[in-house]
Amino acid sequence: MAVIAFIGLGNMGGPMAANLVKAGHMVKGFDLVPAALDAAAARGVTLAESAAAAVAGADVVVTMLPSGRHVLAAVSGEGGLFAAAEPGALFIDSSTIDVASAHAFHEGAAAAGLPSLDAPVSGGVGGAEAGTLTFMAGGSPAAFAAAQPILALMGKKIVHCGAAGAGQAAKICNNMILGISMIAVSEAFVLGEKLGLTHQALFDVASTSSGQCWSLTTYCPVPGPVPTSPANRDYQPGFAAALMLKDLKLSQEAAGHAGAATTLGAAAAELYAAFEAEGNAGRDFSGIIEWIRARS
Ligand code: NAD
Repeated sequence: MAVIAFIGLGNMGGPMAANLVKAGHMVKGFDLVPAALDAAAARGVTLAESAAAAVAGADVVVTMLPSGRHVLAAVSGEGGLFAAAEPGALFIDSSTIDVASAHAFHEGAAAAGLPSLDAPVSGGVGGAEAGTLTFMAGGSPAAFAAAQPILALMGKKIVHCGAAGAGQAAKICNNMILGISMIAVSEAFVLGEKLGLTHQALFDVASTSSGQCWSLTTYCPVPGPVPTSPANRDYQPGFAAALMLKDLKLSQEAAGHAGAATTLGAAAAELYAAFEAEGNAGRDFSGIIEWIRARS
């Protein structure tokens, strides 16, 4: 049994921490929001009075926070978690954050003599509950090897993508594909409607032809062809448009720093920003088809 500190017990962190408890570990949790603490306690997480108190005595520290500034604020400085940690404690940041902050996270850990891994996830709240997340990890082989048994309790696929920051890089590249492909599929369905094609006919062709992709076959943005997709429940998330926009902004930021030409990624970020600005932040990102249709 390991002692695991879990900082950030929100929609994702709460059920992830619960899976560590179920596996028999001692999980000491902290969040700023009382409701998140209550829900975690009901799942067997031992509540700590502060993040530093959670980290005291912990072998492993998992952070699952909204963004890079939250992660760096939590771990850095005199009162930060790197300073509060036991010697050799393994830090795993599973938040989705910008690549530059991920590098700063690793550098801070290294300066404190602590092993670290960036390990963002995909799979959403459903995957967090079921323990079937995909983890994309960046860090040293030794940190990855130490983290793997812990990550395996929360996920079913764990990929070591490379050195520090590589997990975040893989996450934002994947989600840039997703944002662009959802817009492409949505535009194709709206054009098909204008041309008199039924949704089912276009789906039957494209899902077995060269237009085939996850946004079409698993997450089809029109009701009918894929009964489990959010289109069948008025675009309730799923994966909220606000989170898609967050990830597209991160990929654009990284593309700017790295000098990558991501014209469609930039266009996707613009479209999702406009979609969100019209009150759709909490709707599923596949609802962008309605926005496209309204402009056709
Ligand atoms: P959330 O807002 O539900 O949870 C974040 C939690 O962090 C909140 O409960 C907040 O109170 C807490 N928090 C913030 N600052 C804190 C601090 N200093 N100390 C302790 N707790 C603090 O968000 P979420 O949906 O759980 O997402 C967490 C991360 O996972 C994000 O980076 C998100 O982009 C990523 N992610 C989310 C999903 C999803 O479907 N929700 C999927 C993949 C990745």
